Amino acid sequence: MKIGVLLDEPKIIPGFDYVFYEVKPSSGRLLKPLPKAWNVVNCFADNTVSQNKPELVATSKGERAVRGTVRHFLWDWICPSRNEYRDYVKQIIQDIARHDIAGLRLDSVCYPREGYCDCPVCLEKRRASGEDFIEWRAHEIESFVREVRESVPCKLGLTVEPDPCYGNERFGLDLERLADIVDFISTPLYMDYSIVYWLDIIANCFRRRISKPYFIELYAGHPRTPTRNLVSALSVAAAYSDCVVLSTYEAKIAESLQAEMVSDRQVWKFFEDRKCEDMLKILGRWQNEFGESTR
Ligand SMILES: [Zn+2]
Repeated sequence: MKIGVLLDEPKIIPGFDYVFYEVKPSSGRLLKPLPKAWNVVNCFADNTVSQNKPELVATSKGERAVRGTVRHFLWDWICPSRNEYRDYVKQIIQDIARHDIAGLRLDSVCYPREGYCDCPVCLEKRRASGEDFIEWRAHEIESFVREVRESVPCKLGLTVEPDPCYGNERFGLDLERLADIVDFISTPLYMDYSIVYWLDIIANCFRRRISKPYFIELYAGHPRTPTRNLVSALSVAAAYSDCVVLSTYEAKIAESLQAEMVSDRQVWKFFEDRKCEDMLKILGRWQNEFGESTR
């Protein structure tokens, strides 16, 4: 098993096999690609385009998929059917791929929720396809990922919404077909980890459905989860994933977590008791690199 980190600042942290960097966050701001990192592009979440071109926002029964509505969207969603916006994002992706990066990860590649989108473009595209709504949406998302895959030579990962049961019905995510196209699938399984029962169930369910490498992202940013809870989540995620990604967003949180885990005998014992060899190997590696253990 590998270990990764997700950051919203351009920094490579030693000791992590995968460093993910949000080069196009949901704010819609375009940042400078980070060499040697996995650059993360938020595809259909874009709070800038939603302001500048409000007609591109996804809709359902007269409701727009933006922040501040009853649906509590965390960011504004652009309709995935709009060719002009798809071309805009693909151009961004191709420009990033020209840099010396480790690879690309596509985030927010889906419809905002069930019922979206019923804008005039979607209605017409669907009518012309002759498919039912669910199948047509899945094809729209699949074709976007395929177009990206064919336009860049680098490794490509895809983040999907953390719903292992109804991703297709709710978001237009046909997990099996999408997994065929990309190099790995990632899911953010964000919770407080005081209880890891649900983490275990969801991770298990995804693992059974994904034949490609499967990455699990654990939330480790502000507000900080107690490290013992995060360690407990790590031992669960390690059982199902090919890579666990610590989403700390800030580099200094990731660095302090590395130091804290290596120097805390209780953390080693926790993994030993659960026979979590993968995490013990990672701690051992960090210990050799930083030499901060009191073990
Ligand atoms: Zn639409």
